[in-house]
Amino acid sequence: MRLELDGWKLGLRFSACHIIPEHGKCSRLHGHTYTIHSKVHGSLNEYGIVLDFEIVKNALRDIILELDHKLLIPSRSSHFKIETGPEVKVFLGDKEYMFPEEDIIMLDISSATAESLATYIIEKLISSMKIPKNVIKIELGVDEGWGQGAWVTKSFD
Ligand SMILES: [Zn+2]
Repeated sequence: MRLELDGWKLGLRFSACHIIPEHGKCSRLHGHTYTIHSKVHGSLNEYGIVLDFEIVKNALRDIILELDHKLLIPSRSSHFKIETGPEVKVFLGDKEYMFPEEDIIMLDISSATAESLATYIIEKLISSMKIPKNVIKIELGVDEGWGQGAWVTKSFD
């Protein structure tokens, strides 16, 4: 059995900006509307459900609150040089940016791509909820705009 949660239809989306160094126009500061989809695979429990939809939606909403309307900074990037303080300074090649701390979120990823965001979000999702024994696999997709996205899968034994 598979549950599917469509992020666009459920409003599981956020807006954020990022910079992808050395990728043409993407190397300039710009933004996207992202949405998070998920699929939960497993067998039915004694109540005839795989997993309560609300558990997944609530966990994803908490993650969305952290990311929404922020600049996503990949703290493990070798391209970004970051100075923290009351203002955060970001040095990228010849460019220098300065942001209020409240406008950014530092993520433990190497690049703020849809691929890395999907991995980051599935790890946060799994650590924030108790995975019942009947759930064998979770897939999570992050769309960067309408119609394109990256998916990751986590299996449980
Ligand atoms: Zn982009």
